[in-house]
Amino acid sequence: MIFTPEKYRLADAPMKPFIDSDEIWDFIHSAKTNKAYVREVIAKAVDKKRLTLAETATLVATDDPELIEEIKAGARLLKEKVYGNRIVLFAPLYVGSLCTNDCQYCGFRTSNKLAKRTTLSKPKLIEEVEALQDNGQKRLILVFGEHPKYDAEYIAEAARTVYSVKKGNGEIRRVNINASPLDIDGFKTVSDAGIGTYQVFQETYHKQTYKDYHHGGQKADYDYRLTSLDRAQEAGLDDVGIGALFGLYDWRFEVLSLVRHANHLEACYGVGPHTISFPRLQEAADINIKKDYLVSDEEFTRLIAILRLAVPYTGLILTARENAAVRKELMRFGVSQIDGGTKIELGAYAKKESIQDLNKEQFKINDDRALSEVIEELLNEDYLPSFCTACYRLGRTGEHFMEFSVPGFIKRFCSPNAILTLAEYLEDYAPVKIFDKGWQMIEKNLTELEGQANVKEIRNRLERIKLGERDLYF
Ligand code: SAM
Ligand code: SF4
Repeated sequence: MIFTPEKYRLADAPMKPFIDSDEIWDFIHSAKTNKAYVREVIAKAVDKKRLTLAETATLVATDDPELIEEIKAGARLLKEKVYGNRIVLFAPLYVGSLCTNDCQYCGFRTSNKLAKRTTLSKPKLIEEVEALQDNGQKRLILVFGEHPKYDAEYIAEAARTVYSVKKGNGEIRRVNINASPLDIDGFKTVSDAGIGTYQVFQETYHKQTYKDYHHGGQKADYDYRLTSLDRAQEAGLDDVGIGALFGLYDWRFEVLSLVRHANHLEACYGVGPHTISFPRLQEAADINIKKDYLVSDEEFTRLIAILRLAVPYTGLILTARENAAVRKELMRFGVSQIDGGTKIELGAYAKKESIQDLNKEQFKINDDRALSEVIEELLNEDYLPSFCTACYRLGRTGEHFMEFSVPGFIKRFCSPNAILTLAEYLEDYAPVKIFDKGWQMIEKNLTELEGQANVKEIRNRLERIKLGERDLYF
């Protein structure tokens, strides 16, 4: 069931800016934070009901340590209820670091003259994809700076190239994009290339802060950026990802604005964002940032838990910007997707050795473990790693489909597909030490699915995978 508060359905218009800073702050300052009410809001969320902006403001404004613990516990419970123990894995693939914008927090910014910029040639791109396939990756996000060279056709061609690479049993089955916002025709062009999600992060929803940090180029236009994903929807690209760069402005304001953005897309297009990302500001070459709003680990956990409760059906992505220990902790509070085996220096996947060099990278990453190590930890922590790409390939996206609106969908489709894709990984790429662990996890999950999914058919397909068949999904 899509949540569209009457107020936004009436007030919001497609492709028109929708953030009013005063309104966002009013919600926070006037939020009711008495214990009984906060608990009521948490209970509503745990019951899988989408929260209003005022209710989200209540969670954001709550400072009582006891209630904060209850918010976190609620998020954990809700995550288990909605997503079960699956974690979807992907990897970023940086394609080009040319950039005409001047975002003060980013190593690729045009005024960073120390940056060693590169664009992967087609053969290099193919080499990278082969290396990623050799690690077992099935889902990538292609990342680009903003530059006239990386126009819609260029991005579409890169996606087509990635899809065309098949090494051994390897293939990339879903290509997502994080690149500059496009116009409607541009979004049509990339959509035709069969991309999955198109991500555009607003970075900060606070207009003055946005102005302070974005000094030049197209990205300096706040409203153009804010309405980017409206244009994607107008182009028929209904699978979009929003995000804010935490550390630029008050996290409370950004959380509420992300929810406001989700409300806007739901009000205008009947479908919310597929994912929300919450990159936290990291060290990068030659950047120029104020430290006033840096987000502590404690606040970061809180904000992820609040997002989980506020938008129970939106995927939450946590990246390797965060270190392994922080990721392990944060994952419990509602994250549904993480990257693994991440390298962000251009061309690094195909290199034997790579040492982080900030002059070649957008920012510093803090979790550079191999995909197999990330998977091993997931298995140790009782998560079910998934490389599933079934829904978007079967056209189950956007307003026509929400996996959560179909009763039992997760048990009948998501969990079986997670099991099948994990089995492929184990057969083709897993180091010996996680092979057995992985199959034990599959057995455990099959037992739990008994009576709720067609376990006989899953077992049948697992046998087919063992015999060499690939890409079997429900
Ligand atoms: N150039 C495109 C754009 O700006 O939309 C692509 C995005 S950029 C390559 C990916 C994201 O990285 C940005 O949207 C921003 O949120 C994030 N980012 C930039 N600098 C960062 C930093 N120093 N630490 C953490 N994340 C950063
Ligand atoms: Fe360019 Fe994107 Fe970095 Fe801004 S965040 S400088 S647009 S790569």
